[in-house]
Amino acid sequence: MADYVIETRNMSRAFKGFLAVNDVDLKVRRGTIHALIGPNGAGKTTCFNLITKFLQPTAGSVLLEGRDITRTPPARVARLGMVRSFQISAIFPHLSVAQNLRVALQRKLGTSFHFWRSARSLAVLDDEVAALLDRVGLSAFAAIPAGELAYGRKRVLEIATTLALDPKVLLLDEPMAGMGAEDISRTAALIRKVAADRTVLMVEHNLSVVADLSDRITVLQRGRILAEGTYDQISTDPAVIEAYMGS
Ligand code: ADP
Repeated sequence: MADYVIETRNMSRAFKGFLAVNDVDLKVRRGTIHALIGPNGAGKTTCFNLITKFLQPTAGSVLLEGRDITRTPPARVARLGMVRSFQISAIFPHLSVAQNLRVALQRKLGTSFHFWRSARSLAVLDDEVAALLDRVGLSAFAAIPAGELAYGRKRVLEIATTLALDPKVLLLDEPMAGMGAEDISRTAALIRKVAADRTVLMVEHNLSVVADLSDRITVLQRGRILAEGTYDQISTDPAVIEAYMGS
């Protein structure tokens, strides 16, 4: 089994000659929470898009569990077990919280008419919805239209919809963006819980969240890897301090 769940080799992406991501070798170890940080414009989002195949690298390769996925379409990457959450809302506001999870679980379990006709299949689905609601702490909100949830809980529901696919690798794009302290601590606990049996790669601006959650951190600056290590290592690295002060 490959040591690294995600590995990029000399991964680059140019936009009209401008290298947004420049020769990045990112290695994400199995079972870790790995954070990608860096000043605005450093190339974090582009890296995420390259890894999940929403964008093609102009050079280099991307590996998922040792398998080259450089030319693999995003839907297939998701089926291989790497799923991302989006910063922009991906939930159906008029459906209830439980219905949103039901839709997400149906995607995982398949859409065959025969499968869904059986009462037993529907019961299995109900059980899975209930288990997922419980896991993410949204059971009390099951019947509420998702659009009426408070902001932090909406973001938790988004994470829950990605968990419905039971990914081996979960990519979280600024999971704490716009959250208050209480939502942050609730979401951090959820991320820790889901990371117990999978690998998490996240882009996050909030450095205390990064310090609290991450096993390993990669710092990007102007498309390149500036530093990598534990929070203690990177937060005392003069080049990293300089990059943050200068941004
Ligand atoms: P970050 O997520 O770290 O803020 P991004 O990956 O969004 O950084 O962007 C890195 C750089 O690439 C920025 O200078 C940005 O303007 C540029 N960039 C990103 N996407 C595009 C695009 N589609 N076309 C042209 N330039 C882009």
